[in-house]
Amino acid sequence: MSEPTAQQIAQRRDLILMDAPSTGEALYISGVPYIVRELGPQAEELGIMGACDPKRCMIWLHLKDLTPRKLRGVIHEILHALAESYRLDLEHDTIRRLATGLDVTLRDKRNHTGSLNRLF
Ligand SMILES: [Zn+2]
Repeated sequence: MSEPTAQQIAQRRDLILMDAPSTGEALYISGVPYIVRELGPQAEELGIMGACDPKRCMIWLHLKDLTPRKLRGVIHEILHALAESYRLDLEHDTIRRLATGLDVTLRDKRNHTGSLNRLF
């Protein structure tokens, strides 16, 4: 079987996002309510760790069985929303690197001691 084309992958991604059910919750990002839609294992198989549509205030996240990879996806999508809110013209790769840095900082056990523990 041949590899799917970029267009086929994009179509499959769009279908997965369209089918993702709303949790009925809002995630407030810098005060803006984003409708939360939950991604399933199909999305993960395709490497979709999240998505964000700031124009429609919609965010797609993996919320079940949260792993460090899924949590990094959450941070990544929140950063996309913030970049839009604050009109920061950030490249996807910049968002990816910021998400990694923030994730590593938040999960660093050395930051979970003493008075710093109150921060997280
Ligand atoms: Zn991204």
